[in-house]
Amino acid sequence: MKFKGGIHPSYLKLTAGLPIEAMPLLERYLVPIGQHIGAPGDVVVEKGQAVKRGEPLTRPAGFVSVPVHAPTSGTVKKIADFPHPLGRPQLSIELEADGLDAWWESAAPVGDWRTLAPAALRDAIRDAGIVGLGGATFPTHVKLSPPEDKPIDLLVVNGAECEPYLTSDHRIMLEQAVDVCEGVGLMMRVLGVGRAMVGVEDNKPDALEALRRACPPDLPLEFRLLETKYPQGSEKHLIYALCKREVPAGGLPMDVGVVVQNVGTAAACVQAVRDGRPMTERVVTVTGSAVMEPRNLMVRIGTTLQDVLDHCGGVTGDLGKVIYGGPMMGMVQFDLECPVLKGTSGILCLKESEVTQFEGRACIRCGNCVDACPMLLVPSRMGVLVERSRWEDLGEACVTDCIECGSCAYVCPSRRPLVQYFKRGKLEWRAVQRRQDSHA
Ligand code: SF4
Ligand code: SF4
Repeated sequence: MKFKGGIHPSYLKLTAGLPIEAMPLLERYLVPIGQHIGAPGDVVVEKGQAVKRGEPLTRPAGFVSVPVHAPTSGTVKKIADFPHPLGRPQLSIELEADGLDAWWESAAPVGDWRTLAPAALRDAIRDAGIVGLGGATFPTHVKLSPPEDKPIDLLVVNGAECEPYLTSDHRIMLEQAVDVCEGVGLMMRVLGVGRAMVGVEDNKPDALEALRRACPPDLPLEFRLLETKYPQGSEKHLIYALCKREVPAGGLPMDVGVVVQNVGTAAACVQAVRDGRPMTERVVTVTGSAVMEPRNLMVRIGTTLQDVLDHCGGVTGDLGKVIYGGPMMGMVQFDLECPVLKGTSGILCLKESEVTQFEGRACIRCGNCVDACPMLLVPSRMGVLVERSRWEDLGEACVTDCIECGSCAYVCPSRRPLVQYFKRGKLEWRAVQRRQDSHA
């Protein structure tokens, strides 16, 4: 099934055929305490304290919160503000490695997911610090705890990886297919659902085949190849493509009885429960024409961008831009001291010649953006409303339904900075709402 709108950018999956390699142990890691949507945890270690790999450095500060863990054994050198991929420095724990890489004694297997109670599985997933690894970084135990008035009957598993360049999910499906399938089974048990659908874009048929072959006979997983089209991996579009349910405007997948999880998250859940391994590392695609040796790497959380790039042979002399994530929705990085976080699926290095500097021009009403918008919005009109500071009219234009996928900006011949407009427009519209509420 297809969704309306969307685009077909050049996919440039340069690293699709490269197996995941582990990065060697480093001498220093920088672990920010806030790496997910929700409250950062409370720090539970002190400067000078010895820690082991997998030992919690923070404890959750509420329901929508997960701990971060030591990526290796060593000593806490400093607890202070350090560069963070979101822009502003954030409280982080600097760890000096002791070279032993010894695991924390309490990081022990939790048990067999097929027999453990759903609540115990959910607690284990939280304690392992697992968040949505597709980039959303929403704590997984929260997503697996839908409210009672939202019955769930379907788990949708996202293997679309529709962003150009990124191949980390592709490699996980190929190389950790058993863990992905077992993780889906585990999540089905937590949710109490009898049905799960796994969607993979049709530019990765080998990944779907690997999952199919790895799936235990007692797991009722349904596998589907989807059209390769951006943004196929957006939750709402994936759900529609797989089961034709439409998430209402302003709603969530749970409103149509669905929970969506990423393939890497599924594998991480089973590794936490079966092997007792909290999130201390993740697969990162290091790619782009400006990196000397593009790779798929297993990178410890807290590894600095500089260390990753050095391991990949450095960058070319004409580096123009470094992005965490893919080119459509990723975040530009300005400091090579920024660490890899749980949500860092890729590091994209573009040459200066590939980075277009442009001035947005006036809208010529060509309608390209309207055709491309997968949320069936009218980006041209929303853009004009933002330019005229008509914040109060943005609600009617449904600006909050924009998923910031960038399809409209990609096709705009006037190079209008539409996504930046809509990010600002959402903030301003919400501010108008708050002001109106306070005067009511
Ligand atoms: S960024 Fe927003 S408005 Fe533009 S195409 Fe995507 S959903 Fe539509
Ligand atoms: S694509 Fe650009 S120029 Fe064309 S209608 Fe949309 S905003 Fe205007």
